[in-house]
Amino acid sequence: MIEIKNITKTYGEQKALDNISFSVNGGEIVGLLGPNGAGKSTLMKILTCFIPPTHGEAFVCGNSIYDNTMAVRRHIGYLPEHNPLYLDMYVREFLRFAAGLSGIKNNRERVEEMIALTGLTPEANKKIGQLSKGYRQRVGLAQALIHDPQVLILDEPTTGLDPNQLEFIRNVIRTEGKKKVVLLSTHIMQEVEAMCDRAIIIDHGKIVADESISNLSALALTEQFHKLTS
Ligand code: ADP
Ligand code: MG
Repeated sequence: MIEIKNITKTYGEQKALDNISFSVNGGEIVGLLGPNGAGKSTLMKILTCFIPPTHGEAFVCGNSIYDNTMAVRRHIGYLPEHNPLYLDMYVREFLRFAAGLSGIKNNRERVEEMIALTGLTPEANKKIGQLSKGYRQRVGLAQALIHDPQVLILDEPTTGLDPNQLEFIRNVIRTEGKKKVVLLSTHIMQEVEAMCDRAIIIDHGKIVADESISNLSALALTEQFHKLTS
């Protein structure tokens, strides 16, 4: 469902991604694991058609990021890294707006479903600006899921959350991952162990490991990751 072929991205002199290739199939939760600056967000922005690569090609559900931008976006639910939300909008108002942009027919019904799914019910009458980080993240997740996309791309979905919020969000991602392809990024090893079926470790724009979690002992993965970050 996601196919990445020899993607390179340079920002001026700097190579943020260096000839990255991998593919992800249905029902997999894949963790893109790497230290800050590794290139995780850059890869996600390319897949969601926000920036073009310098070289290479990628397909989402068979649609090229160059030729079928609209189709790519329709198939993807995206939670960006800093989850830019409209702080002055009410939760319901924002989600209805997001549903409208995606052309959803049963707008109201779908928004209520997403509010229930992401545990937003007690906060649903508030403005987004009044919510804690964890609840803002839930709004971001509800927005990403609203058009029932086949592919979920989540950029550091659990960074900075307290333990209760963390467990809730992890559960939503695990549940959705049974029905969709999920590509999530994190710089925290435990997040990959807790949620993912497969880990792709990326460093300085290059893939240094690509293994299923069950194949690779957690210990070996941790050691490999610590080598990178120490
Ligand atoms: P990660 O998400 O893994 O922390 P990023 O993809 O954000 O990494 O960044 C990869 C590298 O590209 C970093 O060195 C970063 O400084 C650089 N970079 C990212 N965005 C830009 C940009 N718009 N202009 C110049 N350099 C950038
Ligand atoms: Mg990032």
